[in-house]
Amino acid sequence: MKFSGRPEIESLTGFKGRDDLVTSFYLDTDKSRLSKKEIQVSAKNLLTAARLQVEARAAGKELKDSLGRDLDRVADHIALHLASLNAAGLALFACSRRDFWLALELPHGPRNRAIFDKTFYVRPLAAILDKYSRICVLLLARREARWFEVFMGEIRPLDSLTSDVPGKIKDGGFEGTASKRIERHLDARLHDHFKKVAQTTFDLFKKNGFDWLLVGYEDNHHVDFESHLHTYLKDKLKDRLKSRVGDTPAKVLKEALEVEGRIKKTEEEETVQRLIAELERGGRASSGLRDTLNRLNVFEVQSLVATHNFAKEGRVCPTHRFLYVDEAKCPVCDKPTEVLVDVIDEAIETAFKRHCPVKQITPPSKLDRYGHIGAFLKYKA
Ligand SMILES: [Zn+2]
Repeated sequence: MKFSGRPEIESLTGFKGRDDLVTSFYLDTDKSRLSKKEIQVSAKNLLTAARLQVEARAAGKELKDSLGRDLDRVADHIALHLASLNAAGLALFACSRRDFWLALELPHGPRNRAIFDKTFYVRPLAAILDKYSRICVLLLARREARWFEVFMGEIRPLDSLTSDVPGKIKDGGFEGTASKRIERHLDARLHDHFKKVAQTTFDLFKKNGFDWLLVGYEDNHHVDFESHLHTYLKDKLKDRLKSRVGDTPAKVLKEALEVEGRIKKTEEEETVQRLIAELERGGRASSGLRDTLNRLNVFEVQSLVATHNFAKEGRVCPTHRFLYVDEAKCPVCDKPTEVLVDVIDEAIETAFKRHCPVKQITPPSKLDRYGHIGAFLKYKA
């Protein structure tokens, strides 16, 4: 199935394997960058390396057998689906002992890796989720309107509308806003059209839970149309597009994705800037791995900010899942801690379980100078 967002991440983080080991397998299958042969070779190499890793693991026979069966299933899935796959990435999650299996198609090629751990490795999914917004694109013309959904790099038509609006009044050489204003007053039917379009847009937002609105206008309709928008939608209106009603979906998608990338980058910079400002005035923020993990352990984190792909080994208390950089014993319960492959992944999972937002920042950014990770806190530090 296609990866569609938070519900799948929550089903993975909610999986209770008890003392089992589980398999997370990520494969870059982006056929725009890689040939089919290259993908097959890297899948094979990754599987071979993974089997060796299982062999070398200090775990009971039953656990190792379960991991072996996970990898058999991964191999079967790839052999069966790779040829017809159109997605840029695959994420496969297995725990054979508990009969758990989830195959997700990703819109973005992940780093190739196989990870065996007590919990599923969901960080690449969280990063993808953070990269995309659910966007409503509206293309508006004098008589027509078309709506599209753009999400995770794909576009689909939502609705369209045609109104009976008379042709434009020739302004006989007059130019500028004065003549435009006169025309506007004359044209009540154009207003009705805009009103209808604004209402339909609002209904579509309520139904689909969009994050953003992007609108492509003909002429200078934006001033008039935007005055009809519900306040809620005015806040969601992120940018205007050059796309027009008659454009192909492929062309609209291309522009929407460019705009999305630009807005995301600005948002990331603003997030980091806000975090630094908060840190510098000694406010409600933490930076660096040690302090941020401590804050997370005691439920002080409001939202987590981490550099994309920043990973570090860490430790976890087996009793109450507190996360540590290097404590051999849990300072709270004095029990020996266990090694984690990537403590940042665990921190992100913890945040997800608590419905706490996670922002992953594309490097290089100013966050690199603050230890690659930080958090906005609930209480004053
Ligand atoms: Zn403990």
